[in-house]
Amino acid sequence: MALTEFNLIKQFFTRPAQGKSTRLSVGDDCALLSIPEGYELAITTDTMVENVHFFPDVLPEQLGHKLLAVNLSDLASMGAEPIAITLALTMPKVDADWLKAFANGLFALADKYQLDLIGGDTTSGPLTLSIQAMGLVPNNQALKRSAAKVGDLIYVTGCIGDAGLGLKIKQGFRGADVQQVLQRFNKPEPRIKEGLALRSLANACIDISDGLAADLGHILNNSGVGAKLDYAQIPMSEAVTSYIQKTDDWQMPLIAGDDYELCFTINTENVRRLNISCTCIGIIEEEQGLRIMQNGETSIFNKSGFEHFNT
Ligand code: ADP
Ligand code: MG
Repeated sequence: MALTEFNLIKQFFTRPAQGKSTRLSVGDDCALLSIPEGYELAITTDTMVENVHFFPDVLPEQLGHKLLAVNLSDLASMGAEPIAITLALTMPKVDADWLKAFANGLFALADKYQLDLIGGDTTSGPLTLSIQAMGLVPNNQALKRSAAKVGDLIYVTGCIGDAGLGLKIKQGFRGADVQQVLQRFNKPEPRIKEGLALRSLANACIDISDGLAADLGHILNNSGVGAKLDYAQIPMSEAVTSYIQKTDDWQMPLIAGDDYELCFTINTENVRRLNISCTCIGIIEEEQGLRIMQNGETSIFNKSGFEHFNT
């Protein structure tokens, strides 16, 4: 028997609330959250559209994970602790197996952070998935793009370029450790722990969704500063290094998106107190623009990352 809208919400997306902020969850016209004294609510939303953000052959479990991960990554970059999400689901038909796998992927990640799915919307149409994620951050402690200062050092978490190489592999490139980089492309891990640790330390922070150059570029523009990066310091996996050796495509880690690592700026005083795994890749300077030092030469880097409506 075909599942109705209400039955599918009940079967796949209704669970007992576990978060300390949740006052009312799925089932009413609105959900209710309480915000503790001294905190601000950080809110973000990200949509994924079939054939734009994911391939039709993606596993629904991976899709559930990734949709949530990209939203949590935005909370991480602000230093917010995730508390709840809503889910807007548009799909051409009701497929119970697909929904079950999608919900499994989503809740496996949600449970890691005791996050509640507190509401949403379910409609029919071309496959389009949106999550709105909400988090808490102490008053005035959110890590903004506009707070980089001249003299700050620039750091990134993790490795850069794996997801970009994953996309190249999906598009036909052969020769790298396929499974490892595809995993990074399909199943990014949001840097929540790192974002929380950076709250009282970093100045500006952003998550790398559109590419290191483009996303660092947002920090530079919003802060009215420039930067110099030392290319040799950018952390890359063996798979990415070997891809660059084979293809000479050294720009890939700078312009490919989807890594969901954090890029932040921090003053030299606070660097001593950093207790997360991260790598210094450059410095914030007064002179506008992004400069890359490579093989003893410094050049201006203009290429940006992925943009929608960019014809
Ligand atoms: P309304 O008509 O008032 O907008 P709906 O009929 O769309 O409410 O949804 C009924 C309840 O189910 C609401 O509490 C809504 O937040 C929730 N809901 C709808 N779709 C989803 C979903 N995909 N995941 C979680 N909750 C959902
Ligand atoms: Mg509705």
